[in-house]
Amino acid sequence: MLLPHRDSAALTDPLEMLELPVGQQWDGKIAYLDRDGVINVGSENYVNSPAEVELLPKAAESIGRLRRAGYRIVIVTNQSPISRGHWDADNLDDIHSELRSRLLTEDSDAHLDLILFSPYAPWEGAWARKPNSGMLEAGRQLIEAASSNADFSSLRLQFDADWVERPDESTSFMVGDRGVDMAAAESFGVRGIRCDPDIGIAGVVDSILGGAA
Ligand SMILES: [Mg+2]
Repeated sequence: MLLPHRDSAALTDPLEMLELPVGQQWDGKIAYLDRDGVINVGSENYVNSPAEVELLPKAAESIGRLRRAGYRIVIVTNQSPISRGHWDADNLDDIHSELRSRLLTEDSDAHLDLILFSPYAPWEGAWARKPNSGMLEAGRQLIEAASSNADFSSLRLQFDADWVERPDESTSFMVGDRGVDMAAAESFGVRGIRCDPDIGIAGVVDSILGGAA
């Protein structure tokens, strides 16, 4: 099985998370977010360098609001240029460093708790690649492990039919701008919310949070 990859770390390396803002205690809510067309401007030709990172309006504020409301933020992004040979994972790490930096500049609570990506090309049939749900599965288990101070050296992630006893996802959601995002959400069993790629998460965050700041 072709598994998800993680930003600047091996998949099951220990994950240290920042505390949630405003004294929020995590109660299991995760915001699973696609990247391009949700947080930053997407492109048919991919986002290929840190210089090409352009945040969508109010994306940082929206992520800050979600964390202030008690959500952990997990990015789940297909990044086939790696397997296609256009560039490598180090370049993607640089892109994600830039993304994190831009978000925090606009809203100091807009921290991405975990970034997962699928480096695989469509024809490889990876479980990690949306519309499959491998990144969401890994995201849930890594966030749960980090939240409970689990021993990551003995962590064994479970996927697909092998993962039988799954936690409740009814308070979580997935935002994406494409059909593959909604298919991954449905396959995983979490509410999928489709956004306009020209507007991104700021266009749907009110409906998620009920207009509350
Ligand atoms: Mg997208």
